[in-house]
Amino acid sequence: MHELSIAENIIDIVESYRGECDFTRCNSITLRLGLFSAVDEEALRFAFEALTEGGPYAETILKVEKTYPQATCSCQRSFEVRDFYYSCPECGSVTAELTGGDDLNIVQLEVH
Ligand SMILES: [Zn+2]
Repeated sequence: MHELSIAENIIDIVESYRGECDFTRCNSITLRLGLFSAVDEEALRFAFEALTEGGPYAETILKVEKTYPQATCSCQRSFEVRDFYYSCPECGSVTAELTGGDDLNIVQLEVH
C-alpha cells in the first residue's frame, strides 16, 4: 500500500525534526496534497492513525490542504482543475495543459 509508505515517511520527517528541535508534543501536521498526487487522503489518514496508535503521535492531527492544478487552454483561457475530468469552460476542449496539482509536502508542524 502506497499510502502506508507515505505515512511512514511523514513520521520519519517529524521524528528527525524532533531530534533537532526537541519538542515533546506534535499537535498537528499540515500536508499539502495535490489533486494529481495519486494519494488517497482517506487511505493516508487510516495509515497514519494505524502507525501512530499508542505512540508519541497518537494525538497528532493530520490536516490536509488540497491543491488543484492550473490549466491553460489553447484558446488562452486559464482555469483551475477541480476534478480528474475537466474541460475548458470557454471552449469545452479537454486538452488544456496542466501545471501543478501534484504536490505532496509537509507545510506546517504545530509543536510544543
Ligand atoms: Zn478553451
